[in-house]
Amino acid sequence: CKIDYQAPAELLAGRVVLVTGAGEGIGRAAAKCYARHGATVILLGRTTAKLETVYDEIEAEGGPQPAIFPLNFEGATLKDYQDMAATLGKEFACLDGILHNAGLLGRITPFEQYDPALWEQVMQVNINGPVWMTQALLPLLKASAAASVIFTSSSVGRKGRAFWGAYAVSKFATEGVVQVLADELESLSSVRVNSLNPGATRTRMRQAAFPGEDPATLRSAEEIMPTYLWLMGDDSQGHTGERFDAQPARN
Ligand code: NDP
Repeated sequence: CKIDYQAPAELLAGRVVLVTGAGEGIGRAAAKCYARHGATVILLGRTTAKLETVYDEIEAEGGPQPAIFPLNFEGATLKDYQDMAATLGKEFACLDGILHNAGLLGRITPFEQYDPALWEQVMQVNINGPVWMTQALLPLLKASAAASVIFTSSSVGRKGRAFWGAYAVSKFATEGVVQVLADELESLSSVRVNSLNPGATRTRMRQAAFPGEDPATLRSAEEIMPTYLWLMGDDSQGHTGERFDAQPARN
């Protein structure tokens, strides 16, 4: 359990870290937290206005100037990811981390009634897009002395649950990608790949999944950041292909 981890103030100084879904919820908290610990954060998301707000918040706190990268995983093509790698390659010598955080819940509904178009959409945003983005960015990750790639999972990505449909399946696939990629990169030792389950966290997605729940009973995104910091920074070096929980006690 890393919930008590106390990150050194300069943990991510000089690092370049990409956060997907950085406009809201856990992604927003992580982007700000990484910047507070010295990282130059690339804010990726589909709603530019939200990314601009986070950009302003980081600047107001005196963090390193972030970058904004608007991208919608639903419509993005391989060429978009290659162009992205080229653009980032011009700006930065390497990429020291990716927090794959963007996610779509889809619908909590019986399998028999699951809409195929929605299923495809959830798989696109939660797994296919992040996979092809990672493939395009691998050369930049390999250029880092110690890069950390974090894929966001969920408890339903580790044990299936009725009605969770494409969301659960996409998170199982996420665990699969982590294992395959970590195994493939193990000899390199400079790029580690792990999965992280935030656990129930007070965000819009959680509210949509559990409308009857009192949000006050949940941890905020800020409160689960110790594990996000630990896994992004050098104190987690040597860990790869593993799965972590930001709130182990809840599972
Ligand atoms: P939110 O719904 O609050 O935020 C999701 C983020 O993903 C938003 O910034 C959203 O952008 C972005 N996003 C959604 N679709 C796309 C897309 N097509 N292209 C690019 N970005 C997109 O969710 P949370 O913060 O709660 O969740 C973050 C991660 O944690 C997800 O992967 C989720 O599955 C996982 N998780 C969350 C739990 C929880 O209790 N909250 C529990 C277990 C796992 P925009 O703002 O523009 O909509």
